[in-house]
Amino acid sequence: MNFQKPPGDFFFIPSATEEEISREKRKARELRASQWWKNKKGEGRCHYCGNIFSPRELTMDHLVPLIRGGKSVKANLVPACAECNAKKKYMLPIEWEEYMENLKNTDK
Ligand SMILES: [Zn+2]
Repeated sequence: MNFQKPPGDFFFIPSATEEEISREKRKARELRASQWWKNKKGEGRCHYCGNIFSPRELTMDHLVPLIRGGKSVKANLVPACAECNAKKKYMLPIEWEEYMENLKNTDK
């Protein structure tokens, strides 16, 4: 076996408690009402596929999901189109990473 990462990384998947998740969800709601988010959505660009949408079609997405210990901070919140959002939800993390790689590779 040739571990690229420390084995701990491999076996330990950080997860958040329900309490932490509901706290972060509350923070996300607050940020969603902020001018910062309005500006961000106003750009109309999906963070993942890079396509332009009407701001109404974009939703707030956590780069690192709350369930995996992600926080509701500006650096972890991005606008996502419905398609990317749905894909991210239903794909396994590894499939999602592959999807992201493909998007990068097809970038002009
Ligand atoms: Zn997208």
